[in-house]
Amino acid sequence: MAGLSDMRFFFLFMTLLISSTCGVWAASESSPDITNVQLICGKIGSKLSSVTIAECNDILFNQPRFYSSDGLPILEKHYAATSEDAPRILFIGGIHGDEYSSVSVTFKWLGMLHKHHSGIFDWHFIPLANPDGLLQKRSSRVNKNKVDLNRNFIPAPNFPEPLAHWRERAKKRARYYPGHEPLSEPETRMIHQLIDEYRPDVIISVHAPHGILDFDGNSLKPPRKLGPLYLRQLGTYPGSLGNYAWFVKGIPVMTIELPHAGIMPTPHDVNRMWTDLVRWVDRKAKSQRALVLKEP
Ligand SMILES: [Zn+2]
Repeated sequence: MAGLSDMRFFFLFMTLLISSTCGVWAASESSPDITNVQLICGKIGSKLSSVTIAECNDILFNQPRFYSSDGLPILEKHYAATSEDAPRILFIGGIHGDEYSSVSVTFKWLGMLHKHHSGIFDWHFIPLANPDGLLQKRSSRVNKNKVDLNRNFIPAPNFPEPLAHWRERAKKRARYYPGHEPLSEPETRMIHQLIDEYRPDVIISVHAPHGILDFDGNSLKPPRKLGPLYLRQLGTYPGSLGNYAWFVKGIPVMTIELPHAGIMPTPHDVNRMWTDLVRWVDRKAKSQRALVLKEP
């Protein structure tokens, strides 16, 4: 079992035990193996003061398919649209493990969606893309392998290699280490796979603490603001999700930069941001989807 951490081994063992008990190797939709979900919800609820264990479990997450480099299950939740041509939104929180508010706010919006999902849009949520970074004693931006996941994607053509950029421009600061090669990490491979499988019209990624709204991609007009956050387009770094998704895959990326990593926005602002976001998706992403479908 070389290369597998104790935690990974434990989850694999539990999965195999439950699978063999049930007489199946893969749990079906009707009999989800909730053990891993409950374990990770327990850890998230214990770590974040703004997310309770019950709140996490109430989302009824999908059967975990992906694991972090330390073997932690990565939570996924899909809300299907009723129509094939509905906008598809891939929503990612917590790609940086020390940006607590990005995970907590994503859970608040997931909770709202869970209660009110109408089927007008198709949503796929990864509320915590970097569980290794968040769920350690002292949370870190990077994952277990000390890689900044938001520098570990395939760089766009005409951009420098992320490793060269890190050496020359990021002064080899550890928190921006992009890994020895693009997609070296299971977490970035997961997002890469999801983009190909899910084919989102837009990707929304939540960070902190710059207090702005960023947007990569000119196929959609970005919103002027989301609640208290105003649009300020900063450009992309090689290996970032924005650089990969827009310049390589042609999918616009909205980056929500909350004002504080460790302080939650007020409930009023959490609601305002969500309302503005859904309005924008309704107006803009819907027309984008219609354009895509009209292509020969
Ligand atoms: Zn971040």
